[in-house]
Amino acid sequence: MSTRSNDPTPVQAPPLLTGSLAACVHAALAHWGEQTPYDCVAALSGASFSPVLRTSVQCPAWWAVSGTGQRLEFMGFALGFRVEASPQDGAHDPEGMAEFALMASSALREGAVVLYAVWPSWGIITGEMPHGDLAFLLGTRDAHFPPRAYVLRRTTRMLSRGEAVRESLRFGAAAAAGSTGASSFSAGNAFYDAWLSALNWGRSCPKCSQSSWYCAVATAGRVRSMQLCAAAYLRRANSLLPDVARTGQLDQIARSYDAMARMLAPYARGASGALPKADARTRGCCLAAVRDVGKIHQAVAQSMSDLAVGL
Ligand SMILES: [Zn+2]
Repeated sequence: MSTRSNDPTPVQAPPLLTGSLAACVHAALAHWGEQTPYDCVAALSGASFSPVLRTSVQCPAWWAVSGTGQRLEFMGFALGFRVEASPQDGAHDPEGMAEFALMASSALREGAVVLYAVWPSWGIITGEMPHGDLAFLLGTRDAHFPPRAYVLRRTTRMLSRGEAVRESLRFGAAAAAGSTGASSFSAGNAFYDAWLSALNWGRSCPKCSQSSWYCAVATAGRVRSMQLCAAAYLRRANSLLPDVARTGQLDQIARSYDAMARMLAPYARGASGALPKADARTRGCCLAAVRDVGKIHQAVAQSMSDLAVGL
């Protein structure tokens, strides 16, 4: 992620990072002077309720890093910004991308921010940038991850907080059950099944040539962060949806996300950055924990679906 401005706004990765898209939107809001809790931004981005599997990437550790822009428009309705997207097929539309870069340059001068999706993570530009540099950056070509960029302009919120929370929980229920709305991603049980089959201790990861234990630990850290964000957001939703809070469903689902996070904690990279030990017993326990977390997730998906029916 990068910023460029005379007075740059750093993108500070929150301790419970679920994905780089949410981190960039969180940074955009901070740039506009609004301190929004990270768990709210992450939940509105759709990243909190299920880990996501990117079907074109082999390493599980990278699946959760990126996120898609499909919820950006909804995030704008909820958080107060308007979104203008670059051409759908930017890799084959250099003229369209150049036109978009020109518009983005002018928007930056008027206080907008630009988000751009490159592999493996999103970036944000919050200050003026020479047009040639911006056009070059947004024109980056990658066959697997074509360039997408978005201009975000500050507006008033279109949705009340209650409406936004209800819609985010409906989307979260679909994601927990496995639907992401994007063909190159799957979620829910498909994620846990794929992660279990990727936990092959005998070789290095095929994607990043690291030891597979390193990648398992990175994955556990990201999945655990997502689960803790979901739990925090569900508890926060209690005060915004008093009718739902009375049923106890939000608290009950939050406890399940907490339980999954507790089970993964011994295998997640700690705050100090230290790797948990990699002996055979620990690896066996990790495999069993992932299997059990997958079972709890299945029950959570059902509870989220029941919750969505009453919203
Ligand atoms: Zn890997």
